[in-house]
Amino acid sequence: METHIGKTLLKIIKGDITVQDTEAIVNAANSGLLGGGGVDGAIHRAGGPAILEECKKIRALQGGCPTGRAVLTGGGNLKARYVIHTVGPVWFGGNSNEDGLLRDAYLNSLTLAKEHGIRSVSFPSISTGAYRFPIRRAAGIALRTMRDFINEEDYYDEIRFILYTEQLLKEFELSWEKIEKTI
Ligand code: ADP
Repeated sequence: METHIGKTLLKIIKGDITVQDTEAIVNAANSGLLGGGGVDGAIHRAGGPAILEECKKIRALQGGCPTGRAVLTGGGNLKARYVIHTVGPVWFGGNSNEDGLLRDAYLNSLTLAKEHGIRSVSFPSISTGAYRFPIRRAAGIALRTMRDFINEEDYYDEIRFILYTEQLLKEFELSWEKIEKTI
């Protein structure tokens, strides 16, 4: 589905984040920044070794990326010019500030993109794969965080949520319907 929040075009669609043509795509990385499985592995495979080289430099400078934070590299061979690597929380049952850390991951990614003058960003569903965050809950946090950011400053041209499975897509669409009613 597609809609506008202010001047920002929002797309919630099924797809593969590695082929998106937004200026930046977001990677659900891990703190080590050395690649991994899931969407992280797919982005490094599609983008080529230049992304990992840059990640290694960031690691050498600041020792990786803490949960909830984000760092930026070039996009290598991807259509996207930049990759924002953010680290979502591992789900430990809900009492370890998982919600707050997931919100931080989205918020810091949006803030970092804006700092670099990036006007269009694609997000995957952070933390809902290997990190086991419940999908419905994650969708609500992802979409509310994005909506709150745009309500504060209507800066972006386009934000996409690229959902890899039908189930993810359904949960994000349902979640957005609920949020829209509360605007
Ligand atoms: P995390 O460790 O943050 O849970 P994962 O990569 O395991 O990260 O999963 C995050 C989400 O990314 C999952 O919901 C998974 O379905 C999705 N995903 C995996 N590959 C892709 C892809 N190529 N494009 C978009 N989403 C993807």
